[in-house]
Amino acid sequence: MNSCTPITKKGSRAVSAEFAGLAAQPALSRADLIRILGAREKSQIEAVRAEAERVLLRNCGNGVYLRGLVEASNACACDCLYCGIRKSIREVNRYTLTADEIVACAKACSEFGYGSMVIQSGERSDRKFIDLIVEAVHRIKRETRTSQQPEGLGVTLCIGQQTRETYERLHDAGAHRYLLRIETTNPELFAKIHPGEQTFESRVECLRLLREVGYQVGTGVMIGLPGQTLGDLADDILFFERLDIDMIGMGPFIPHPGTPLGTAECPDIAERIRLALMMIAATRLKLRDVNIASTTALQALDPVGREKGLKFGANVIMPQVTPQDVRRDYQLYPGKPCLEENARECQSCLGMRIEAAGRKVGYHAWGDSVHARRRKAVPDDSR
Ligand code: SAH
Repeated sequence: MNSCTPITKKGSRAVSAEFAGLAAQPALSRADLIRILGAREKSQIEAVRAEAERVLLRNCGNGVYLRGLVEASNACACDCLYCGIRKSIREVNRYTLTADEIVACAKACSEFGYGSMVIQSGERSDRKFIDLIVEAVHRIKRETRTSQQPEGLGVTLCIGQQTRETYERLHDAGAHRYLLRIETTNPELFAKIHPGEQTFESRVECLRLLREVGYQVGTGVMIGLPGQTLGDLADDILFFERLDIDMIGMGPFIPHPGTPLGTAECPDIAERIRLALMMIAATRLKLRDVNIASTTALQALDPVGREKGLKFGANVIMPQVTPQDVRRDYQLYPGKPCLEENARECQSCLGMRIEAAGRKVGYHAWGDSVHARRRKAVPDDSR
């Protein structure tokens, strides 16, 4: 099976009575979440999946929204123990795209009908880099206005911890969503894998600032980290709820051999895939109307991982649009998919995969989460 093979096999349809009816439950407790995350029998997994899909369709509809992913720079000031572009890895060829290159990626997104893009990078807060992103966002908002999207492409940023002033500048430039993963809400585990200045508290503070500045805020975690427990993962979901998060991006942890966590003990691949899918389902069951991305890391471990994510309650996919010549230099973990395909090939493969999962692509739409629209009471649901 190659990375473009859609799922056609239906799998077990037997459902477990114990897990059926979760959708009707008013509020899942921490113990319920742990029970869901620990489901292993095929029939239990299918029952949870079917409930999560039902909750998704009822609350958010059938649409899958696309955010073209541009990896703007792999330069990084941090040394996170899990990350393949951490600053102390000398072998990484460091690059930064120009504003012209980022805008060209945005125009490709617009042409493909992706309604939004994500600009992601390593941790950089230097003036030169922030000026570059501000300029790129300004230009994207001006230069991607079309008859189908008169307000231009939606722009989500994922460029790490910044000051309030920086968040404001980027928001003023036109970025309206920001993704900053908390990585894990277990403070001891967080401290273990993040040396240096970034602390659990400073991340939470950034998430608070982002909300205050006016962004739709996304966060997420890595799943299957060394030492992480089902209780930690349940707490992660409760954290998303407590912070009233609008969108979630999470995926399996994948050990990178060049990093300190490269040889750390973690659950095997099949277990990390199972856990990642159950996290998507449990988050959907608990939070209901948020956007949840089916992430590239899931596809890195399973050729049809992203489609499975959709079947377990996700409704966002981030196709690659980073220029091909630098994709290889942005490898947070090994096995990154779509290194060879160009952006157009990714686009045609993707539509097919989404339809094979029984869903419909929301072309030319920002695809803001129902949660964010409710929170802000924006009446037009085409955004
Ligand atoms: N500097 C930005 C972007 C980081 S890269 C920021 O901190 O927001 C995006 C995400 O990739 C990270 O948040 C992390 O969750 C994930 N990631 C990094 N290394 C990984 C690994 N080895 N396995 C799985 N996910 C990883």
